[in-house]
Amino acid sequence: MTEHSPQSPLVQIKGLCKTFGTGEGRVVALDDVSFEISQGEHLAVIGPSGSGKSTLLHMLAGLDTPDAGGVIVSNQDLAQMGDRKLTLFRRRHIGMIFQAYNLVSTMTAQDNLCIPLLLARTNDRDKVDAMLQTLGLRDRRRHRPDELSGGEQQRLAIGRAMIANPDVILADEPTGNLDSATGRNVCELLHRLCGEFKRTIVTVTHDPAVAMWASRVLVLCDGRIVESLDTASFASAAELGARFLEIIERHGKSAPCA
Ligand code: ADP
Ligand code: MG
Repeated sequence: MTEHSPQSPLVQIKGLCKTFGTGEGRVVALDDVSFEISQGEHLAVIGPSGSGKSTLLHMLAGLDTPDAGGVIVSNQDLAQMGDRKLTLFRRRHIGMIFQAYNLVSTMTAQDNLCIPLLLARTNDRDKVDAMLQTLGLRDRRRHRPDELSGGEQQRLAIGRAMIANPDVILADEPTGNLDSATGRNVCELLHRLCGEFKRTIVTVTHDPAVAMWASRVLVLCDGRIVESLDTASFASAAELGARFLEIIERHGKSAPCA
């Protein structure tokens, strides 16, 4: 699916800046953010509330445009695309998972799963059946989102993000509405599927237990990447959390809550 060459990183983010508002109300959401993501990598960006996580993810998805800097995905510069090309590019290359699931409330579970395939004109019944099986939702296929638990809805949203085999999965606080056991379950599924299907994933979160599933964690503080951590060097999420607190106390002023 990708035109990406294995030599270059799958995603390159260069000098991203984004400011909202003017005068007294001016907020610098991203301040010269640069990093790269390799093919197949599971990257987490951890930061306190208001640190710029969602803004960064929106830039990666081409849902918002930076004031300066740019994003290159699979060797394609998002800034060079018009709206129509960007929409098609997003459908083909990017899968998104949100805290609030963002499922279509009037459609059944299986119809929600079909949406990316219909948009790509590749509707494949077997693929939908296999994905429902993988998600553990076969017996929920005719249920609408309001007839599913939070965990089931997020599992469905993960399936919807992955079913058309996008190059990059972007997850914004994917466990933010779930209790910790269900959240763990969702992280495990996301991590396992990305490994099985060799997908690249970027998760933004304020929660060290979510970030711990990634191999690399970037710490975002007041719109700047202030540290890069290797999760293999932490014995537990609690240890990663303690380091995160120490870093943001050193660099920032925001509180580490959602
Ligand atoms: P996070 O996801 O880490 O909580 P956001 O990326 O949502 O942070 O927001 C970063 C900062 O930018 C916050 O101060 C927020 O209030 C501000 N912000 C985000 N989106 C907008 C917007 N559309 N208009 C004005 N300010 C915004
Ligand atoms: Mg956010």
